[in-house]
Amino acid sequence: MQEYKNYINGKWVKSSSGKVFKNLNPANKRIIGVFQDSDEHDVSEAIESAENSLNEWRETPAPKRAEYLYEIANLLRDDQERLTKIMVSEMGKVYKEARGDIQEAIDIFEYMAGEGRRLFGITTPSELKNKFCMTTRIPIGVCGLITPWNFPIAIPSWKLAPALVGGNTVVFKPSSDAPLSALELVKIIEKSGVPKGVVNFVTGSGKDVGDPLVKSKKVRCLSFTGSRDTGEHILRNAGLKKVGLELGGKNAIIVMDDANLELAVEGIIWGGFGTTGQRCTASSRVIVHKKVKNALENLLLNKVRRLKLGNGLDKNIDVGPLINEKAVEKSVMYTEVGKNEGAKLLIGGKVGNREGNFFQPTIFTNVKKNMRVAQEEIFGPVVCLITIEDIDEAIEVCNSISYGLSSSIYTKNLNNSFKAIEKIESGLIYVNSSTIGAEVHLPFGGVKDTGNGTREGSSGILEFTEEKTIYIDFSDKMQKAQGID
Ligand code: NAD
Repeated sequence: MQEYKNYINGKWVKSSSGKVFKNLNPANKRIIGVFQDSDEHDVSEAIESAENSLNEWRETPAPKRAEYLYEIANLLRDDQERLTKIMVSEMGKVYKEARGDIQEAIDIFEYMAGEGRRLFGITTPSELKNKFCMTTRIPIGVCGLITPWNFPIAIPSWKLAPALVGGNTVVFKPSSDAPLSALELVKIIEKSGVPKGVVNFVTGSGKDVGDPLVKSKKVRCLSFTGSRDTGEHILRNAGLKKVGLELGGKNAIIVMDDANLELAVEGIIWGGFGTTGQRCTASSRVIVHKKVKNALENLLLNKVRRLKLGNGLDKNIDVGPLINEKAVEKSVMYTEVGKNEGAKLLIGGKVGNREGNFFQPTIFTNVKKNMRVAQEEIFGPVVCLITIEDIDEAIEVCNSISYGLSSSIYTKNLNNSFKAIEKIESGLIYVNSSTIGAEVHLPFGGVKDTGNGTREGSSGILEFTEEKTIYIDFSDKMQKAQGID
C-alpha cells in the first residue's frame, strides 16, 4: 500500500509518531493509500520551517514570486487529466466537475500571478502642504491554511496563490477525506521551484494538526474553509491572528411565475445535485411561485428520474457518491426528519448501491421555511421546495436562514430581479443562473453565519496582505495634522 508523507522544509517526511491513517475511495470503499497521522510536533516543525523561509521569500520581488505561480498554473494544466482521475477516485465528484476543480486552480494561480505586478496601494493628498501620503500591501507572515475535501485542489489554490504572491509562507493542512489531491498540488508547487520551507504540508486530524496550527502565536494569519461549527471553534481559539472563515450555506433558487421553467430546472439540478449536493453553494432550497409549482415539480421529476448515480470516472454518470458513510447517514437522517416534519418526499430518499457511499437524488416538496430540512445544511443531494405567493415572500423566505452565501432568482421581470439583488442577504447572487458557478476574478464569500467578512477569489489578496500607511513630509518643518498649531 502506498504511504504518502508530509512536506516540511523541502523534504518529504514521516510524522514524528509514525502513525498513519487510511484514505478511501467513496465509490467502492477501496483504500487509496495511507497518510501521516501527524500531531503538534510535526505542526511545530512545519511552522518553524515557514518562519525560517519567511524573510527570503518576502524580500523576493512580487513579480518574481509571481513567476512561480505562472509555472504552477502551467504544471497543473499539463497534469490536468491525471489529477482529475485522482480527484474523482478520492472524493467522488464526477469527471467533468473534477476537471473543473483543477481548472479553477489554474485560473486562480494565473489571476494571482498578475497580482505580482499589481499589489496596488493608494496615493491620496495630505491635509498639509508638502506632504505625500500612500499605502503599500505587505505580507502578514506565516499563514495556516485549513481546507475541506469538497474542492480538494481549487480551495487550497484559492488560498495558496494569494498567500504566496503576497509574500507569506504557509503551513497547509488538508482534509483527511481528500489528502491525495492536496498532496499532488504540493508536489506541483515543489516542481515549480518554490524555495524550500515556503510551503509546508502536514496531514492529520483537526484536533491534532488543525488545533495546534490555529493556536500557534507564530502563525499570524489563519485561513479556514469548512463547516460553521469548526469555524466557530477556530475563531474562539485563534487569539489575535488575522482569521478568514468561509463556512456553510443553505442556498436558495427563487423561481418566479414568469421564469423560463426549463432553464430553472437545469439550474436546480446542477445546483442541487452537482458534487452530489456537497458544495457550500449547493441549491438546497427552491422557493417556487405557487402558480408554477406543479409544472416545476413535473419537469423536475422527469429529469431527476433519469440521473445516473455511480462512479464518476464513468463519463456517463451524473451524480457520484457522498464523501463517506457518515455523510450517507446524515442524508438518511434528514430524510426521516423531513418526513416527520410533514414535508412530502417527491423522489429519492434512499441509500443507493452499498458498494460505495451512494444516496439517491432527493426532493422534498410542501416544505415550510422553518422546518429543519429548510434551515440546516445537509450537504447531500437533498433539495427542498417551498411555495410562495409573491416576490416579497420569496425574499423573506430566502433570508429566513442563518447562512448567507449564494442565492439565485429565475425571472424575466427586471423589477423583481433588482428587488432580489438589493434585498437578499447573501454574498453572491445570480439572475437566471444556478447558485453555483463562481469565477475566480470576482470576490467570493458570504454574509451572516457563512463567515466573518473575508472574501476569496479576486479579493484573496486583501485576506493575505496587510496595508502599510506611509507619510512623507518634505516641508522641512514640524507639521501637525488635525489643524494643531
Ligand atoms: P469541516 O469543518 O469538518 O473540516 C474542514 C477542515 O477543518 C478539515 O481539514 C478538518 O480536518 C479541519 N478541522 C476539523 N476540526 C478542526 C479543529 N478543531 N481545528 C482546526 N481544524 C479542524 O468541514 P468539511 O466537512 O471538510 O467541509 C464541508 C463544509 O465546508 C460545509 O459546511 C461546506 O459548506 C463548507 N464549505 C464552505 C466553502 C466556502 O467557501 N464558504 C467552500 C467549501 C466548503
